[in-house]
Amino acid sequence: MASVAERIAVFGGTFDPIHVGHLVTAVNVRHDLGLDRVLLMVANDPWQKAALPVSPAVHRLAMVEAAVADVEGIEASALEIDRGGRSYTADTLAELRRRHPGAELFVVLGSDAAAALETWERVEEVRALATLVVVTRPGAEALAPPAGWDHRVVEVPRLEVSSTDLRARVGDGRPLDWLVTERVVHLIRALGLYDVPYMSSERSATP
Ligand code: ATP
Repeated sequence: MASVAERIAVFGGTFDPIHVGHLVTAVNVRHDLGLDRVLLMVANDPWQKAALPVSPAVHRLAMVEAAVADVEGIEASALEIDRGGRSYTADTLAELRRRHPGAELFVVLGSDAAAALETWERVEEVRALATLVVVTRPGAEALAPPAGWDHRVVEVPRLEVSSTDLRARVGDGRPLDWLVTERVVHLIRALGLYDVPYMSSERSATP
């Protein structure tokens, strides 16, 4: 009997920190497309965010591992961290192709990112290796990727949460609960992440 090819999606991000928007996207994409695995690919050096400070990769990876420990079919991947240097999807897909020669590969993107696809490093290699998964909010018209891309569209409820807002929340003492998983809240506290004085000395003087 012919074996069925494994279906693996790469959902890349900085995940600084991982939040419920990422998780809801990953589980819905896996369900809708009948994927075996969605790899949350933690960028080592996210070139799109080159000008911004980013937490150490090991800490971002630890948070993703904690968030998906009990989630079937969703995995943290250290492939880009282990490779080191700048993180390019073309390299990541080539590595996955080597490790899983028969697998069908997918790359998950928000429709904003799909529109900017042509700015990616070695985008032709990405196109040759993977099917694009464009995530869109229910009822919204998905921005089509440029012509020639094999793609699927998956509707996912858009939760208005961002890593940027979460970092600010830590900085000014607002709650993180339900926006990230409980384990991730504990890790952020234990590692002292984002605990920078966003506010003035007024706040630090408050008991
Ligand atoms: P930041 O606020 O630091 O820019 P972020 O919240 O956008 O971070 P990233 O790690 O940069 O998180 O995002 C990884 C991927 O997740 C990107 O494809 C991004 O479009 C997508 N994403 C970000 N926020 C959400 C959300 N609320 N719902 C669904 N997908 C999201």
